[in-house]
Amino acid sequence: YPCEVIRNFSIIAHIDHGKSTLADRYVKQLLLTNTITKKDKGLNQQVLDKLKVERERGITVKAQTASMFHEKDGTNYLLNLIDTPGHVDFSWEVARSLAACQGALLLVDASQGVQAQSISVFHVAREKGLTIIPVLNKIDLPAAQPEIVALQMQSTFGLDPSDVIQISAKTGKGVEKVLQAIVNRIPPPVGDPSAPLKGFLFDSSYDRYRGVISLMSIQGGVLRKGDKIASCHTRKKYEVTELGIMHPEEVPTDCLRPGQVGFVACSMKESGEAHIGDTFHRVGQLVEPMPGFKPAKAMASVYAGIYPVDSSDFLKLEESIKRLSLTDRSVEVTRETSSALGQGCRLGFLGTLHMDVFRQRLEDEYDANVIITAPTVPYQIVHRDGKTSLISNPTEFPDPSEFASGGRVRAVLEPIVKASIIVPEKYFSAMMDLCFEHRGTDLDWQPMEAPGQADGGEAMSNRVFMSVTLPLAEIVTGFFDKLKSRSSGFASFDYEDAGYQKGDLRKMTFLLNHKPVDALALIVHAKAVDETGRYWVEKLFKIIPRQLFEVPIQAAVGNTIIARRTLSALRADVTAGLYGGHYERKLKHLQNQKESKRKMKRVGRIDLPQEAFFDLLSSK
Ligand code: GDP
Ligand code: MG
Repeated sequence: YPCEVIRNFSIIAHIDHGKSTLADRYVKQLLLTNTITKKDKGLNQQVLDKLKVERERGITVKAQTASMFHEKDGTNYLLNLIDTPGHVDFSWEVARSLAACQGALLLVDASQGVQAQSISVFHVAREKGLTIIPVLNKIDLPAAQPEIVALQMQSTFGLDPSDVIQISAKTGKGVEKVLQAIVNRIPPPVGDPSAPLKGFLFDSSYDRYRGVISLMSIQGGVLRKGDKIASCHTRKKYEVTELGIMHPEEVPTDCLRPGQVGFVACSMKESGEAHIGDTFHRVGQLVEPMPGFKPAKAMASVYAGIYPVDSSDFLKLEESIKRLSLTDRSVEVTRETSSALGQGCRLGFLGTLHMDVFRQRLEDEYDANVIITAPTVPYQIVHRDGKTSLISNPTEFPDPSEFASGGRVRAVLEPIVKASIIVPEKYFSAMMDLCFEHRGTDLDWQPMEAPGQADGGEAMSNRVFMSVTLPLAEIVTGFFDKLKSRSSGFASFDYEDAGYQKGDLRKMTFLLNHKPVDALALIVHAKAVDETGRYWVEKLFKIIPRQLFEVPIQAAVGNTIIARRTLSALRADVTAGLYGGHYERKLKHLQNQKESKRKMKRVGRIDLPQEAFFDLLSSK
């Protein structure tokens, strides 16, 4: 396969606009028409969304790659589809997957129109200089308004409406045309097979038996089994043991040629060796590394502590976390110790969905039983001497006394984001209220649709594009759900980092039986202290099972108690109170007790359920 017959492309879209369905259709076609040697994977399941969590949640977490063949005018083309995740938490993964492509299909739902993430992914693709093929999906829906949405694409992206391809990923209508457009419009990758080898590592995963499996895009030269290669970044040397294309499962080939993307297994054993964005060359044949190599690290926006329910499982848990974080390099891992929970890890995630997906994978794939603490954003502490430091755990947050004159802290800065919301005019004031409730500033808006384009039905007419600055802490929990419910599902949302800004913040601690529980600490805005304190004390009061002794539950800022409830002592025999009750009722009571035992963490003398840490805190 010479370069001229290779096309590397991605599908980019707002969530739910049909990316997986389209990718899936191509992959199924592939499975039907090609002599795929692997056993039938079950054509009805979403092949690209491989992981169980992804299937359950209907989102794509991990970018996947598939190669397919397409014949046109007697020439056989190799089309490499690089799948990208479809959630705002994972926009960093989108950017890096696009680095291996020359073109992108911009998929827009013909019944929903251009949405917030359509715009952000478009800009990422544009910045990378990719050829963009506009595709309107779901034209089979009665609510589809292809002409109106094509005009939206023109006014928002400056795309020519006559370039827009109308398809239904569901029925298959028009999807052939898209393949032709890929061949005709997207330029082939450039790369010289006789040049020195240059391989760009854009993704990696871990295999228990073979070690690290890298996904590489070959930019020059030919990579073969047995080749000795080295990393530009680490200078470490490896021997290639296996390589091939994703078809969509791994299919070994003899070599990978310029322009191709494929998997590479080499003698890479260690977690930290595969650096996304690294360039590989032949040993003894130096090349200029690919530009823009940053030891690719997305900025984590949410941190949480993960602890084993049973403290003696710590080493096993740590090992599982390391393995799993290798398949997801955007997770940051460090050890930490909590006086309440013992030895654990502090993990940094791209967002709360990312965190939740990671936790679920840990439980599904590694059979881990964990306690996860409340998510927190990173804060920047400006010290009196002008130095700054970042903290990722509320317990490191300065006490009120440290802010006082003569104290060591001058200010605390919190991360902020620039958010964009697209919403029908009808819900505009509800969205404004939501933003102000969450400390929004610099709110601005403009109409989305050009005049005369107003007749797009409820979802698409008279929409407003809003931009607003929000503290990141305000959107990591619950914000998205509120946005959706207060707009009857019509609002779409996206955001990007906008640096740090001074915040009037306090550390809230919770005391059980007069002892502070470090793992429950929270950072709260000064104005929300009273309400938040009362809210959590009430919640803790409801979910902490009564103990054999009285337990005061208190929220405090510094030495000031904000709220208090007291759990009264429980009598030794739980069923004793159910006098005259039926046997079943007693049994049920005992069963409930057993259920709630399942995930209890003993803190001091008190059993705390998981909900005391994360489930509870995320619901606010
Ligand atoms: P993604 O988030 O972009 O990957 O979107 P999915 O591929 O998961 O699709 C979201 C939903 O839209 C699913 O329920 C699909 O069945 C549905 N869908 C996708 N394409 C079409 C289409 O062409 N027509 C119709 N009617 N539904 C579609
Ligand atoms: Mg998807």
